[in-house]
Amino acid sequence: MPLEPIVQFGGGPEVEELRSRIRGWLVDHLPDEFRRTAANPDYLPREGHERAVEFCRALHAQGWFVPHWPARFEGGGLDVVRQVVIREELAYAGAPMVNTNGVNMLAPVLFRFGTTAQQDEHLPKIARSERMWAQGYSEPEAGSDLAALRMTARRDGDHYVLDGQKTWTSNGVLADWIFVLARTSPVGTKRQAGISFFLVDLETPGITRRPIRSMTGYPTFAEEFFDGVRVPEENLVGEEGEGWKVAKALLDAERSNVTRAAQAQRYLDELVDWCKAQRGAKHDPLADPLNRMALARAVERVEVGRALSYRVAHQQASGTLDPALPSLSKLYHSQLTAELRQLGARILGPLGALLPDDPDAVLDGHFSEGLLLSLLHTIGGGTSEIQRDLISTTGLGLPR
Ligand SMILES: Cc1cc2nc3c(=O)[nH]c(=O)nc-3n(C[C@H](O)[C@H](O)[C@H](O)COP(=O)(O)OP(=O)(O)OC[C@H]3O[C@@H](n4cnc5c(N)ncnc54)[C@H](O)[C@@H]3O)c2cc1C
Repeated sequence: MPLEPIVQFGGGPEVEELRSRIRGWLVDHLPDEFRRTAANPDYLPREGHERAVEFCRALHAQGWFVPHWPARFEGGGLDVVRQVVIREELAYAGAPMVNTNGVNMLAPVLFRFGTTAQQDEHLPKIARSERMWAQGYSEPEAGSDLAALRMTARRDGDHYVLDGQKTWTSNGVLADWIFVLARTSPVGTKRQAGISFFLVDLETPGITRRPIRSMTGYPTFAEEFFDGVRVPEENLVGEEGEGWKVAKALLDAERSNVTRAAQAQRYLDELVDWCKAQRGAKHDPLADPLNRMALARAVERVEVGRALSYRVAHQQASGTLDPALPSLSKLYHSQLTAELRQLGARILGPLGALLPDDPDAVLDGHFSEGLLLSLLHTIGGGTSEIQRDLISTTGLGLPR
């Protein structure tokens, strides 16, 4: 069931011409290692990451890496429909998009809250994949309850001095810079007040990084220790003490990712194709009516996810984002991805549980690896429980 035209957005022949141009370009330029696995590059080992960077630079030369940014920052200046089509095609093909922390999270808040100097310094480097970013929100005692964070930033002349620890930073091993939340004044009556948002070069003296392996075996995360780290005052984003506003806008951007629906479509198509290829085999998965029913239900779920993604993109572009929608989108897509991976595990059977480097692995082992990663996605960016909590309060207006 390949991706269909975007009728909801009025995408006409020109948009579909763009879609086929991207498909043609990907045939020639997307390395097989990515096409096969549709892997998430944030979890690639270092060599894979470097090849992914090369690919993203080639994509940028086409104007398709940051298609929606203004030309002044090396963007393609395209509208939301074209942006969605490009993102969909790339995600469906398995194109590795590096630096999602920079492109999808930091850039939108720099456009909104950053100074001209911050925009000029950082946006072009993100566009050219020259500066990789990590997100420094979580701490050992502050995850779901982010306002409990304890990192401090003390003013000293024209610098701030940062002390504390961050943890679970995705891509933290490869990143060059990190954006962090730190307390610039003690906790008052409103816990979210007094937190500030800083941009920090990870090479600054006083920072120690340690990799953390996830269950995939990769050093998916890092933890960082800040000991008297001097950060120039021009690296403060927004007003001092008003970082919560910036942090929340960034989380909205993180949770609204429009590529998940196309990835889900890809997983489902691979599973269906594999099932069809087993017709006549001793263990024919399609002989089991429960499998057929589960696949049909997955089609329904993926279609709903796609409609939800379009709604998010449309509202973001028109500046009318419903405050509960990023949480709804994050919750829906992380649950859907986990469901599809679990369905895959059931249908593919015991060999489907083997990981990518096993020669007997089914579908290159990426369904089993994806099953592990799908569990991480229900936690990263805020857990499913927290998203439900936000939907009930900001969406339904229920009391806390
Ligand atoms: C794949 C992945 C990537 C990540 N990347 C980053 C990153 O790049 N940068 C970063 O800063 N952090 C990152 N994180 C950390 C992530 O944001 C936290 O793990 C997450 O917010 C949960 O916090 P916690 O681990 O401290 O769990 P806790 O907050 O201790 O939660 C433990 C359990 O209690 C539940 N719970 C807590 N409070 C409530 C409540 N009020 N109501 C109902 N249930 C509740 C949670 O849902 C969870 O099940 C990442 C995590 C993962 C898994």
